[in-house]
Amino acid sequence: MAERPHILVLGGTSEAVDAAEALAGRCAVTYALAGRTERPALPAGCDVRTGGFGGAPGLAEWMERASVAALVDATHPFAAVIAANAATAAATTRTPRLKLVRPPWTETPGDRWRRARDVAEAARLVGDAEQTVFLAIGYQQLAAFSGLAKPRFVVRTIDPGTGIPLAGAVHVTGRGPFTVRQETALIAEHGVDVLVTRNSGGEATRAKIAAARETDTPVVMIDRPPLPDGEVCTDTRNAVSRVLDRLRQ
Ligand code: NAP
Repeated sequence: MAERPHILVLGGTSEAVDAAEALAGRCAVTYALAGRTERPALPAGCDVRTGGFGGAPGLAEWMERASVAALVDATHPFAAVIAANAATAAATTRTPRLKLVRPPWTETPGDRWRRARDVAEAARLVGDAEQTVFLAIGYQQLAAFSGLAKPRFVVRTIDPGTGIPLAGAVHVTGRGPFTVRQETALIAEHGVDVLVTRNSGGEATRAKIAAARETDTPVVMIDRPPLPDGEVCTDTRNAVSRVLDRLRQ
């Protein structure tokens, strides 16, 4: 029997899990994770590799050693470093690469969004005022808000982690999907005046946007960083068939 082509899926998202599982029937799939989340969702039928590769050169070397036939970068839309590394490593090794990324959320009637280019601009838009600010941006960039002394922050993260770098912040943990009712209750319980979120897209965390709309809560929406040039797909099934087509060529 012919050896199955080896696909590397850079993961950490629900789309990545779905794509890896769909490819696993026809290909040998390695599913790679940075290793930041406790108890991550894992795809069935795949080898799982946890931890960084050592930048673009390390990734390229790994891909060559493992004879990777195609690279699917299905990392989170805000994971800009690994996306750039994937593009460079694929170019260096001349490996076909597909970026699978969920579509962004778009503003709908009733939403009160202010758009920020990045987290620093989001902090400027929030401003140093006495108000309750719900930060639904994960851990890594919380320090951008540390210059604001007057707001009371409510921070939600998936894991309990090591502590929040914002004095007096209320820390809540939880892994989506959340319902609109849960998000509305959280907004009411903490008296949230403004929600800060990144435009991650997807269903699992969309409810907070609907809850903000329902409660007339303003949102500071952080735009995505630009993607590297190259093939992009926003639909998992389509991405899987494109990869399989490519392998047949
Ligand atoms: P990042 O800043 O773009 O990447 C930082 C470093 O982490 C990379 O240089 C790489 O290390 C390693 N890395 C990232 N993703 C990896 C993967 N899938 N497999 C192996 N190594 C990986 O990434 P991040 O924003 O910290 O995100 C890390 C992971 O969490 C990603 O898999 C992403 O899909 C997932 N995630 C991120 C977010 C977010 O908001 N950023 C949200 C949900 C899930 P080396 O240079 O050593 O290879």
